[in-house]
Amino acid sequence: MPEQGQAGISAVQVKRIKLAVGCICERCRRMFRLPLLEIHYIREHCRLGGRRTENVEENLIVLCSACHQKVHATSHAERELAALRSARPASVRGAIRTILSQQSRTIHPPADIDLAEVFREALEVGGIDLFLNGA
Ligand SMILES: [Zn+2]
Ligand SMILES: [Zn+2]
Repeated sequence: MPEQGQAGISAVQVKRIKLAVGCICERCRRMFRLPLLEIHYIREHCRLGGRRTENVEENLIVLCSACHQKVHATSHAERELAALRSARPASVRGAIRTILSQQSRTIHPPADIDLAEVFREALEVGGIDLFLNGA
């Protein structure tokens, strides 16, 4: 079950976070295949310094689906999960922070390309056949 805030992190980041914790559920400590692990937000809409910060290392925990269901069914899970999260080794913590700090690498073409200009240049260089059919 994807979490609401998860829109803020890419599928690649989710995968890398699961790898960073060692492909385990951080609650029951068992190993799982990556698709069976889920990211849970310890606090659904937490704020730090007035900014919404669901997607920070301190707020994310990797769970298997059984544990995930359990924590959603429990009202006092937040404290337990926060304790588990704070027991993370510094190396794992650092790795997750690095992953979260990396922006997704979607490539947008520059918006200022003038297609008429491109077409004119193509005509001057190779003529319409080259433009339409390639070299
Ligand atoms: Zn588990
Ligand atoms: Zn959850």
